[in-house]
Amino acid sequence: MFFLISLHFCRKGKSRNDATMCDLVLLGLVAISLTKPPVATVAPKKEWGGHGSSINLKEIMIGRCFDYLENVNPSAGVKDCAKIWEEFLKVFSGKDPCSIKEQDYNNFLRLVEHDIPVNQSIFWSQTREITSKFSEITASFMPLESTLSGYLVNDLNWCGSRSIKGPNFVSCPSWNDCENNAARSFWRSASKLYASKAQGVVTVMLNGSSTANAFRDTSIFAEIEVGNLDKAKVTLVRLWIIDNLMGPDIESCGRGSVGKLELILMEKGIKYICEDNYRPVQILLCVNKVDFPTCNLDLAP
Ligand code: NAD
Repeated sequence: MFFLISLHFCRKGKSRNDATMCDLVLLGLVAISLTKPPVATVAPKKEWGGHGSSINLKEIMIGRCFDYLENVNPSAGVKDCAKIWEEFLKVFSGKDPCSIKEQDYNNFLRLVEHDIPVNQSIFWSQTREITSKFSEITASFMPLESTLSGYLVNDLNWCGSRSIKGPNFVSCPSWNDCENNAARSFWRSASKLYASKAQGVVTVMLNGSSTANAFRDTSIFAEIEVGNLDKAKVTLVRLWIIDNLMGPDIESCGRGSVGKLELILMEKGIKYICEDNYRPVQILLCVNKVDFPTCNLDLAP
């Protein structure tokens, strides 16, 4: 009906050529309207307890990708950011968000892979913030979050749903809702690759005030990263056990779960040294806590 009325007004008072033009334009419009599927207007319901995918996930990841390659680490080489996003999306789009396996990220990880400079690998467990700050300030480390794979998704949320294509912006399984959730499988997979590429002196920062073991059996560091260190490439592991400034001092070198880690390294034939409260890290923790007793700087010459 709309088409017939439009046709009538469009042709009115026009020459034969102009009227034919009218017909073609309107026919084109009709063809487009018939081929385009109707846009779903009903938002998917909240299925999971966790936050949905980060808003503007695609734009953020593509933006981060260009920024990384251009400014953060140009030595990562030439990469196709659009393709990287497509491969990432493919992993979870249209799928049950509890059925994403570690190997599902293989293609994505192959696309973003680059070298990690010798002596710059740093692993952490329950020390995320201080490791990130220390790495940034010293500019001597490249933690997983500073490699392209980690940089693209750090602090973001993502998952899909069987009932929609693209990211599920409404809800995602939280970390412990199911084992094979999109984020957990990603970090396990990326951590495995990251650990296997470590060369030279490797640094590990653990939390000496943790009540849940500094070297926690079910952590990604314990379950994935330690086992994937390559003895032929790693010359030394430097363990730093850092207490919170106000304590408590629960874990130390040679004891408890740290002792267990030392044994694992020894059995793997990897040399290690261990230091409690490595002073440069402690000084960084002290930057805005100068009144704490631990932060007393020794001013003697
Ligand atoms: P961890 O126990 O401190 O956990 C690391 C991160 O995993 C947390 O910051 C959180 O984002 C997530 N996580 C773990 N358990 C969780 C839970 N119960 N609920 C919600 N979120 C949870 O340390 P880890 O498991 O040993 O992992 C750290 C190591 O693995 C690092 O060496 C790093 O290379 C890699 N990693 C990085 C991230 C990241 O978000 N950047 C996440 C996982 C693993």
